[in-house]
Amino acid sequence: MPIDRWLHDNLACPHDGEPLTEVDERLECSTGHSHRIVDGIPILLRDDVEHAHWAAVRALELSGDVLVNGAGVACETGVHPFVQSAIGGTNGIMYRSLIGNLSSYPIPLLCAVPSSGARFLDVGCNWGRWCIAACRAGFAAVGIDPSYEAVHAARAIARQLGAEAQFVVADARHLPFRQESFDFAFSYSVLQHLPKAQVLESLSAIRRVLRPGGRSMVQMPNQLGIRSLYHQLRRGFRDAKDFEVRYWSVRELEEVFEALIGPTATHADGFLTLNAQASDRPLLPTRYRAVVTVSESLRRLSETITGLRYLADSIYVSSRKSHR
Ligand SMILES: [Zn+2]
Repeated sequence: MPIDRWLHDNLACPHDGEPLTEVDERLECSTGHSHRIVDGIPILLRDDVEHAHWAAVRALELSGDVLVNGAGVACETGVHPFVQSAIGGTNGIMYRSLIGNLSSYPIPLLCAVPSSGARFLDVGCNWGRWCIAACRAGFAAVGIDPSYEAVHAARAIARQLGAEAQFVVADARHLPFRQESFDFAFSYSVLQHLPKAQVLESLSAIRRVLRPGGRSMVQMPNQLGIRSLYHQLRRGFRDAKDFEVRYWSVRELEEVFEALIGPTATHADGFLTLNAQASDRPLLPTRYRAVVTVSESLRRLSETITGLRYLADSIYVSSRKSHR
């Protein structure tokens, strides 16, 4: 199937940012890099860098007929099997009892107001819940993820739900788009898993693909959140390894995002939890609904008492790309 026209015109080589031309199920740049398109999905990963996520290695090795974990299932009714099994990983511990038992998709509400047709990039989209949320909010959404299986499922689910989102297999550090392609960049529960040096690379990549004045909104974990402190205590405050969460201070987040993207503000996303969405409350077990209710009350309070955000577990970092 053909690649969406706008997407095709705005893709760029992840090695050098050069424009890409489609030749026989491949995307090629003028300096000789060649990337596969598998079942209509561009695989725009670099093969010369180390990958934080095993799924990126697998996507690079993928042959066209390899579809695992239900990723190849065309889904017209019910909840896609990929989401039935991935929900505990993508949405957090409170969703674990829903593994295999989802009766509908937990699509969150995106608190961002687009201008008409604004271009939205979700960095680390997995099965695409935030891309679908962005389409419902009026954005034109593109999701990237290093996992081919996740992206393949995301495309099927977006179609099932009538959302016209596009998806690409890619790495947050080497976003395969022309510079200034997007109005809005978003990422939720993703960059926290990367070593801090890789987060800095990813923020520089986000800045490159945002138009001047474009905005980013990135969810990150606060090291002084109550749940965060508990988890750091459990691992003896040692450095994080592999795919474990890296905790940041609110000040550190503000300084790093300000330096790499532009003027930045932080606000609370959630207390006592990293990932629960108020819109998912009806889906959750009773004991977790109470956690979400408390979290929402504290979040609303933090809109008035802004210093409360220093105790939130989950923080939104909002930045605007400066014109420097
Ligand atoms: Zn190239």
